[in-house]
Amino acid sequence: MIQRDATMYVILLGPPGAGKGTQAVQTAAATGLLHLSTGDMFREHLRNGTDLGNLAKTYMDRGELVPDDVTIRMLLERIGRTDAQAGCLFDGFPRTVEQARALDEALSAQNDEIAVTVLIDVSNEEITRRLGGRVSCAACGSVFHNIFNPPDESSPCCDTVNMIQRDDDKPEAIANRLQVYADQTEPLVAYYRDAGKLSTVNGEQPPAAVGAELLAALEAVSG
Ligand code: AMP
Repeated sequence: MIQRDATMYVILLGPPGAGKGTQAVQTAAATGLLHLSTGDMFREHLRNGTDLGNLAKTYMDRGELVPDDVTIRMLLERIGRTDAQAGCLFDGFPRTVEQARALDEALSAQNDEIAVTVLIDVSNEEITRRLGGRVSCAACGSVFHNIFNPPDESSPCCDTVNMIQRDDDKPEAIANRLQVYADQTEPLVAYYRDAGKLSTVNGEQPPAAVGAELLAALEAVSG
């Protein structure tokens, strides 16, 4: 268990389908860090029918990034709240160098900084295999995978009939998301490496092994 007596901001970086969401939930539970996912925030706005949610949907459905200005404004507002003052675990943010700079500036204005950025490293072939089979339950939102974690036929809720595919997990959107990652997000690997803040874990291991490496990377910086 990580002993945290100081504020700690951690970023999870990696291509779509690397397992950031799953790892973020487990790491947050293990460390007490607040889990902040910009994708979840946009989906919540969409469920609530806000203007921001409707705007975000037009980009999300195509596998494109929501523009930096609205994304940055939403995230900075969120980290300004009390529950984020002890730090947090960013999942899906930043996704562009501009977002990374805005986050660095906001943290430095409060005398904080990113402790570490953990890259969950997975090849393009593996990502395509994983994302192609991802489905979720229309009733409760639980995520399954047709090959790795099949829907639960014994459940009245999460059986195959209830499964839907996120618009951004459809094949044409997947190809686009991978291209967007390569063009706009992958430069962050060099950005954080140059800042001496990059740690890489092998994302092609079983989830528990990825989680263990991730925790070790956090331990290494939680002096
Ligand atoms: P995720 O759940 O992290 O895969 O995000 C789903 C979608 O939300 C992405 O494909 C983008 O369209 C949008 N999104 C999430 N986070 C960001 C971000 N930091 N910058 C721009 N768009 C984002």
